[in-house]
Amino acid sequence: MTPYMQGLVVRDKGATPTVEELRLPEVGPGQVRVRIKAAGVCHSDLSMVNGTLSPPHPLVLGHEAAGEVVEAGAGVTRVRAGTHVALNWAPPCRACWFCTHDEPWLCAAANVAALENGITLDGSPVHVTLGLGAFAEQVVVPEKAVIAVPDELAWESAALLGCAVLTGTGAVRNTARVAAGSSVVVIGLGGVGLSVVSAARAAGAAAVIAVDVSAAKKALAEAAGATDFVVSSENLSKDVRALTSRLGADHTFECVGRAATIRAAWRTTRRGGQVTVVGMGGADDMVELSALDIFNSARTLRASVYGSSDPDREVPELAQDVMSGALNLDHLITDRITLADVPAAFDRMSRGEGARSVVIF
Ligand SMILES: [Zn+2]
Ligand SMILES: [Zn+2]
Repeated sequence: MTPYMQGLVVRDKGATPTVEELRLPEVGPGQVRVRIKAAGVCHSDLSMVNGTLSPPHPLVLGHEAAGEVVEAGAGVTRVRAGTHVALNWAPPCRACWFCTHDEPWLCAAANVAALENGITLDGSPVHVTLGLGAFAEQVVVPEKAVIAVPDELAWESAALLGCAVLTGTGAVRNTARVAAGSSVVVIGLGGVGLSVVSAARAAGAAAVIAVDVSAAKKALAEAAGATDFVVSSENLSKDVRALTSRLGADHTFECVGRAATIRAAWRTTRRGGQVTVVGMGGADDMVELSALDIFNSARTLRASVYGSSDPDREVPELAQDVMSGALNLDHLITDRITLADVPAAFDRMSRGEGARSVVIF
């Protein structure tokens, strides 16, 4: 018999997520069953429940997680029972145009917002977030959606590598390629924004100006390595210019996903500088820039999807960095919670409090 387990489900649009009894499918060929040990509460999960995104329901939330493989299906080669893994919410197919042109983060076959994978609630199929549905005691996923990590790596660190840390670090290293000596502004200090701050500092940025609407984020920003902290206001571009020889920053990272903050990022960047949008926003939130401004500012505006990374290569590298002490994630985790506490964690996130809440199983 397939096992029952608990998972966090949104039954309908606007409904509060509730812990439900779910039934797992049999593990098929090429699939693995993973017992989840830690799962981070990501802003994309909040977007699934607050109306920013319109996923199908009922939906098992969660996509930033790590756990132990408990069963490997026929033909599985990359892991076996007992392997510690981080989950990958956009596993590349390695065959499409993007994958064969060194852009696996844009894989045409990945990035499914929610799909049915055989898990049932009251006998009916449910959808799972990003093909994972990791706010659950177990998941059944294709083997390409798991990445082996060292046994010595803490579960909560391994969980964060799969979304916040890979996204934030990749935005700095792969997308923007921040050079030593650069000035960097980071707008929005959640788990991803704080990872951008740390990675920018590690890349040798001379100034890392962390920006948030909440003054309470100052200590977190400094723990992540920010050289300056600014509370976001109408005067943001003036405040940044005062810290960057009147020029504006070489790089601004927008880690919120709103038109207003993308505009703010544009204005805090120097002429010829780069704006990297890391936050995922809504389909009807329009960014307005004048044609003259686009020409005259000579700025680059682009997005970083999943850190422009190849998770299969970079998650193990980041795991080594954590274990060697080169990458410290301790300050990122501000709350350790249970599944039932996730709605309260969403409330804290909406109010701009804390960094990552991590569900510990
Ligand atoms: Zn995420
Ligand atoms: Zn592909």
